[in-house]
Amino acid sequence: MPVEVPSEISPSIANNQRSSSPDSVKKIGFVSLGCPKNLVDSEVMMGLLNQAGAEITTSADEADIIVVNTCSFIDSAKQESVDMILEMAEHKASGQVHKLIVAGCLVERYRSEIQKNIPDVDAVVGTGELERILEAAGIHPAPSATIQQESPFKILIDRTPSAVKTHSRPEGAARKADGRFSRADWDGAIADLPNYLYNEKTPRLLTTGKTSAYLKIAEGCDHPCSFCIIPQLRGMFRSRHFESVIAEARHLVANGVRELTLIGQDTTCYGEDLGIEDGLALLLARLAEIEELRWIRFLYAYPNKITGRLLETIAEHKKLCSYVDLPLQHASASTLKRMKRGAGADIFLKGIEKMRRAIPNLTLRTSFIVGFPGETESEFGELCEFVRAAEFDWMGVFGYSDEDGAAAFRLADKVPATEIERRRKKLMRIQQSISRRKKRQLVGREFDLLVEGPSEETELLWEGRTSMHAPEIDGKVFINDFGPHESLTRGEFYRCQITESHDYDLVARIL
Ligand code: SF4
Repeated sequence: MPVEVPSEISPSIANNQRSSSPDSVKKIGFVSLGCPKNLVDSEVMMGLLNQAGAEITTSADEADIIVVNTCSFIDSAKQESVDMILEMAEHKASGQVHKLIVAGCLVERYRSEIQKNIPDVDAVVGTGELERILEAAGIHPAPSATIQQESPFKILIDRTPSAVKTHSRPEGAARKADGRFSRADWDGAIADLPNYLYNEKTPRLLTTGKTSAYLKIAEGCDHPCSFCIIPQLRGMFRSRHFESVIAEARHLVANGVRELTLIGQDTTCYGEDLGIEDGLALLLARLAEIEELRWIRFLYAYPNKITGRLLETIAEHKKLCSYVDLPLQHASASTLKRMKRGAGADIFLKGIEKMRRAIPNLTLRTSFIVGFPGETESEFGELCEFVRAAEFDWMGVFGYSDEDGAAAFRLADKVPATEIERRRKKLMRIQQSISRRKKRQLVGREFDLLVEGPSEETELLWEGRTSMHAPEIDGKVFINDFGPHESLTRGEFYRCQITESHDYDLVARIL
């Protein structure tokens, strides 16, 4: 996701800079690519820089230093990252920008190659060394620095050392011994696996508006999925301390946040490395006690980690959105075995039935990979059948991307790219008709709606989300009737009625 500090905070930042910045204050432009986990890393780096006296600018033309926080998940993400670095390097050529810093997952994968092949890059900062952004930018940490930038959305607190894990999960330790985290073959990767994790006292500059924030509760992953290099990029699974998450949530709420989205590579493992059983359920229950919070959800559940207690907790607390994002990746038992994930359609269907029984009106999101090496027409057919039977509310489909360094890279029987695309389109067509039918059933019903602002697609409409919509990934609710209101306020909650439905999007009127 390209983020050049979002428009909501742009005007105040830009005006503030232009009117009050002494010449010596460094102005830093940020581009954040990839997933929300990377976005939180960007927010932490911006917070550190801002606390040390730098100013964050929305305009590359005004910046002295540009930071590109990259993604390296699959080929298309790597290409987008490289293209963005090259685009930002052009600002350096014009003489305005003095320094170009590359951060994030691409650095963990290709550290020395980046600097060798793109000489305009002055410094690199890996995912496990976020605090090094100060050194890379040539800015000295100033723990008692006054806040330079006025924005109603920032959360800036005194800086303390990062939280370092003291435990690990037995599964993680065993997989480490098996070489799951080895980067020995990666040209240019540093030997040490990332081990950084921010805490509640780390400064963070929010970029997601005043009402909604991501909260990273864990980092890294211990799972063995054979298509995935995230464990090598991000390190072993490690949870933030329970009270650190609660304290950060309270700070965010005190600054106006009303919707929290908990993230991590696998949030359902939360607390296992700290010896906490059912850690996610306990965390959600404590967060639900924070009075001003309206919506709390978590993303990225691992299928066999959904416990009865977690489901009961979601069902019990109104503030916990009846929403589960469960990336299943496939449904054929043989494909899942090659993916090193296990289970299969029957087990998944039983699990989904249990979830729907436990949580009335559950919104269920998943994602799949099609064209995994050796995926036969019949295995793909099993997946299609499963999607028809499971009737997900939201679904993403990715074509398999062959990643050097992932175990699946060494598998034979690669599926041709054209066939991968055919399967991707076919699965999406199946989901399209399911989604169309499910969205139609919502017409006439009333929901709370978080208004996000004028629509990006047409100035005649505004947009918002219900609790069935996670930020950024699900469909939209277009607002074509403000009801009794002359105007709506971005970031406020309203009651609405759904008046129209489309394949994925809805239309609503404010009540
Ligand atoms: S659970 Fe997710 S992040 Fe972890 S290895 Fe599997 S796909 Fe990668």
